[in-house]
Amino acid sequence: MDGVRSVPARREKGQKKMKCPYCNHPDTRVIDSRPADDGNSIRRRRSCDVCGKRFTTYEKVETIPLIIIKKDNNREQYSRNKIEAGVLRACYKRPVSADDIQKTIDCVETKIFSLEEKEIPSSTIGELVMEELKSLDEVAYVRFASVYREFKDVNTFMAEIKKILDK
Ligand SMILES: [Zn+2]
Repeated sequence: MDGVRSVPARREKGQKKMKCPYCNHPDTRVIDSRPADDGNSIRRRRSCDVCGKRFTTYEKVETIPLIIIKKDNNREQYSRNKIEAGVLRACYKRPVSADDIQKTIDCVETKIFSLEEKEIPSSTIGELVMEELKSLDEVAYVRFASVYREFKDVNTFMAEIKKILDK
């Protein structure tokens, strides 16, 4: 070996540590995560705090073990389809294009994966979806919120609608 060392990619404590390809520093910082165009991987921009270089990695979605913590504290595997189902239900018969729906889900997914958590409460995902729906379609937002927040009575429901109308 003449000074060239190969360092195998290692994962410690489930965290994805990515070593810097320029200076071999064992850990780098994620500055941006988003779904790649193929829909099956996450594109991450990383930055090395030691040498300041930036690089991009592509990580297969199925290799990113994201677990959702449900309200009853049970765990389940993250599923984009579940988010999609909720958004589609909320947008039923609303003037929202299929394209906009997919973009909305992309935004939610980008935010989810940017959290870089191994386990995420379903409530966090619900809030992220609501955030995106609010700017997409207000009726869809209220529908989603009413199911998601399980409004106990008509007053809480009206309060939520008022918040939107007061904007
Ligand atoms: Zn570096």
